Amino acid sequence: MDKLKMQPESLMMTFGYNPEWSEGSVKTPIFQTSTFVFRSAQEGKDFFEVLTGKRQLPEGQSNGLVYSRFNNPNLEIVETRLAIYEKGGEDACVFESGMAAISTTMLEYLRPGEVVLHSNPLYGGSDSFFKNILSRYNIGALGFMPDDNEEDIMKLIEASDAKDKISVIFVETPANPNNVLIDIEMCVRIAKKLSTPEKKVYVVADNTYMGPIWQHPLEMGCDMVVYSATKYIGGHSDIVAGVCIGSKKEIARVKKMRSNLGGMSGPHTAWLMTRSLETLNLRMERQCENAKVLAKYLRQHPKVEKVYYFDQFENAEQERIYKNQCSEPGAMISFDLKGGEKECFDFLDKLQLIKLAVSLGSTESLIQHPYSMTHAGVPDAIKAQINVTEKLIRFSVGVENPKDLISDIEQALA
Ligand SMILES: *Cc1c(COP(=O)(O)O)cnc(C)c1O
Repeated sequence: MDKLKMQPESLMMTFGYNPEWSEGSVKTPIFQTSTFVFRSAQEGKDFFEVLTGKRQLPEGQSNGLVYSRFNNPNLEIVETRLAIYEKGGEDACVFESGMAAISTTMLEYLRPGEVVLHSNPLYGGSDSFFKNILSRYNIGALGFMPDDNEEDIMKLIEASDAKDKISVIFVETPANPNNVLIDIEMCVRIAKKLSTPEKKVYVVADNTYMGPIWQHPLEMGCDMVVYSATKYIGGHSDIVAGVCIGSKKEIARVKKMRSNLGGMSGPHTAWLMTRSLETLNLRMERQCENAKVLAKYLRQHPKVEKVYYFDQFENAEQERIYKNQCSEPGAMISFDLKGGEKECFDFLDKLQLIKLAVSLGSTESLIQHPYSMTHAGVPDAIKAQINVTEKLIRFSVGVENPKDLISDIEQALA
């Protein structure tokens, strides 16, 4: 049987690891080591020649193990599996956080004087990295708004004088915290328009909310996808981790930058990600089924003013984008409660099963108040523009029995 023709969920328990390497152990051991013994001095020299770029390995061959900042079996196993999970992916590069994945990738593809064009709203850490950190290195950030179309964005670029300077387009969709979709294919078209024979403009998608199951940016023409693997990929609220996935050629560049900056995941984190991939499909399917039930319940509740979830659309353009780029509505629901902060806090404080915490994508349901929590640092004027108000609640639906989730919400709203 050709393993690569199988569905990813069939391969996540075994692919890329041979039990014979480790006393027949069905599960991969944790290679909790910083360094690896060379069989001979010549072998050490050979490995370093590859590491330092003096020698290229033949296609399909990987370098020997040297030092755990460069490579480690736990990292290589989970990278092999992530690369087959992400449709259109060839290789992956894992990190100790989503922000390490994003910052390392951006630093590899941006030079002083260049500009990153990005969607809005962005995850707070990405927004701050683009505006406050990249600016120190004379790298600009130009953001477009969720309802801007291709023409609007081209006008924005012309007006900003960034046209010849854009080298990366960064798109995060659906956008946090109230589920706004950005058209990935539009971003790819803009990148093509801005690319010249001398300079390719890259498209990087943050696929944390929907990937790798319900949205496939590489198949839509993006060059790389990045993740906070802390969320669905890790899925148990027990690790902070990140990943970048793309072609072999691009991931080799990201890995080289990772070796320099040192944000690689540790062996234990990589091992926990490997464990988590076994149930990724199961978890995400169940979370999505639960979310559909919960969204329906919330929509009919008299104390709920509005629900932001992809089972229904008010905006035809949002519906078109959804149908074109997502296969399921996912497991993140946002909703406005009638009232404001007081009503929201009363509700949150009364919940018993659903946990009041930031983060998302975990087996347990998590809920929070973006205005005063995850988005507290966003200036009020921008909050108004992106519709983050004091009545908004963000709900990450877990794998619990949906009847119990409904009972919990019912008693907290009563
Ligand atoms: C959490 C998150 C990040 C940052 O990831 P960390 O693992 O916390 O560093 C980036 N993007 C999105 C969409 C996120 O939700």
